[in-house]
Amino acid sequence: MTAKNKKILIIIIISVVIIFGVAAWLMSRPLLDENDENFGLMRQQMVKEDIVSRGINNTEVIEAMKTVPRHQFVSREQMASAYDDRPLPIGEGQTISQPYIVALMTEELELQPGHKVLEIGTGSGYQSAILAEITDEVYSVEIISSLYETARERLEQMYPGVKVSNHNGYYGWEEYALYDRIIVTAAPDHIPRPLIDQLVDGGIMVIPVGPPGWNQVLWKVIKEGDDVRTERICDVVFVPLLND
Ligand code: SAH
Repeated sequence: MTAKNKKILIIIIISVVIIFGVAAWLMSRPLLDENDENFGLMRQQMVKEDIVSRGINNTEVIEAMKTVPRHQFVSREQMASAYDDRPLPIGEGQTISQPYIVALMTEELELQPGHKVLEIGTGSGYQSAILAEITDEVYSVEIISSLYETARERLEQMYPGVKVSNHNGYYGWEEYALYDRIIVTAAPDHIPRPLIDQLVDGGIMVIPVGPPGWNQVLWKVIKEGDDVRTERICDVVFVPLLND
């Protein structure tokens, strides 16, 4: 090989190394930046295609879904999928609910500004944020300490009015009862009596009930004196309500 050819070969090798290096660096970066305006566009598209077109028509619910940045309630690895209409893992075997189900439950709750609302199962804090877009009095209970800590810090920054507690939500949150509305985002096998007791007369609870993983039904429970009236909303799949 002549000295000239050697030189050319070295230049080619160096160029290939640089090109591969730059490509690897580009691929290792997240596809979307946290504040990327693409997220806003993806969110508007999700609301149009997965929420409004499927029959959600309460304006306050639609506005809340358009406003709350779901990508900030999941890990970096999940961010690119934040506006897909499906549940996503949030750690500890738990999930952030599917956007359509969040919208449906909030609509069925008939939540009005000024209502005091209790959520059981804070998880990522996303549903709490949707509630907080509609009313100022949001209380949320989470049983798993690590999820509670993450959600508390996140909500403190983004929705400081939301009050969060780390205890077993089967028993509601006695301290601030009664509630105008209760929303349960994990499925027990029966409607917990303490939750009925903590609802005002005429108050509404939306709750999935059924065995783990299958055959669960989403119910709208309306309190009438000491009794309740129940209306079936649809079949659903939720993580179980832990009650140890
Ligand atoms: N609303 C959440 C959905 C989280 S999934 C969101 O928007 O992200 C359901 C959550 O309920 C999980 O975080 C789970 O840990 C919690 N959970 C299960 N059993 C519970 C109980 N007995 N009391 C309070 N939280 C409970």
